[in-house]
Amino acid sequence: MIPHVKLQLGKEEEERVIEVLRSGMLAAGSYVQEFEDEFKRYHDSQYGIATSSGTTALHVILEAMGIGTGDKVITTPFSFIATANAILYTGATPIFADIDPVTYNLSPAALAKAVKDHPEAKAVIVVHLFGLPADMDAISEIANKNNLIVLEDCAQAHGAMYHGQKVGTLGKASAFSFYPSKNITSGEGGMVLTDDPTIAEKVRILVNQGQRRRYYHEMVGYNYRMTNIHAAIGLEQLKKLALYNQKRIANAKFYDDHIVNPCIQKPVSPPDRKHVYHQYTLKVKNRDALTAHLDANGIGYGIHYPLIIPAQPAYKNLATCSGTWPVAEDLADCCISIPVHPALSLSELTTIVEVMNHYR
Ligand SMILES: *Cc1c(COP(=O)(O)O)cnc(C)c1O
Repeated sequence: MIPHVKLQLGKEEEERVIEVLRSGMLAAGSYVQEFEDEFKRYHDSQYGIATSSGTTALHVILEAMGIGTGDKVITTPFSFIATANAILYTGATPIFADIDPVTYNLSPAALAKAVKDHPEAKAVIVVHLFGLPADMDAISEIANKNNLIVLEDCAQAHGAMYHGQKVGTLGKASAFSFYPSKNITSGEGGMVLTDDPTIAEKVRILVNQGQRRRYYHEMVGYNYRMTNIHAAIGLEQLKKLALYNQKRIANAKFYDDHIVNPCIQKPVSPPDRKHVYHQYTLKVKNRDALTAHLDANGIGYGIHYPLIIPAQPAYKNLATCSGTWPVAEDLADCCISIPVHPALSLSELTTIVEVMNHYR
């Protein structure tokens, strides 16, 4: 069996975790700050605030921006549910703009239309889906013209670049996730990056129960803190991010070069971007036949995502979820992700290519 996702954790992570356990500093601790410092330095960003997850990072960013009940936030219908859930947590309403058929990211044309239909929208959350940066120039231009704050969901794109600049530094603030399936992990965990001192300060207070000084609560905050144990893992993983991404990119190139099958459409990586292949997601003609074929051959896969967000049972009764998003809906019906994780061997890659090329 070749698994779809395989974690790579070594002695380095083990030793750091044991150190934390022996120190007794399980919750707050020096590794949290060290992880924040290293992560922001890697991005050449001014502020980094660790959180308990990518979801909570998104939530506090929106709250720190002052987004709440009655506000509208535009985003993609084709993402993990957390992107849109974070908008709902604040009391705001998500507006979904369709995706681009080539990159699967938010379509600038659809964004322009959404802004026209909802001129009062306050922000747009861009998702760099599967590790491919979104079309930031076009999106930022529309946003600037319409007073829309650009926020980035970088949960799938650690180290990805747009025009030579790392994602997470292309908007007002950005959220990362360190869930085990992501390009690097801390177990559970997240991070907020921003260059804005006011947002950074508010985020830091919000994740820590609304307090700047212990037991004095300026606002109703949350316990969204990262633990020292998780930070210890994240710190070691961050050192390996460049190597992991290099391997993911090489694996993707192997597929690009060797999967030749008229029933399969491979993902695209525009030359002005560095795609870090959180997923290698294909469009296929008969997905049920392919999944049966992969099951029979012991190859793991994932469906990202089988149902667009506005069609989810939890969403479909919202007033803004009654439209259609034909490009996203089409992708949901025919997408499949094959293993691209850094632990794949050449013989596993060769097997996967053979199996993919034999499917009709
Ligand atoms: C994983 C993910 C999140 C949420 O991150 P968690 O750490 O699991 O809360 C948000 N957005 C996207 C696009 C994701 O892939």
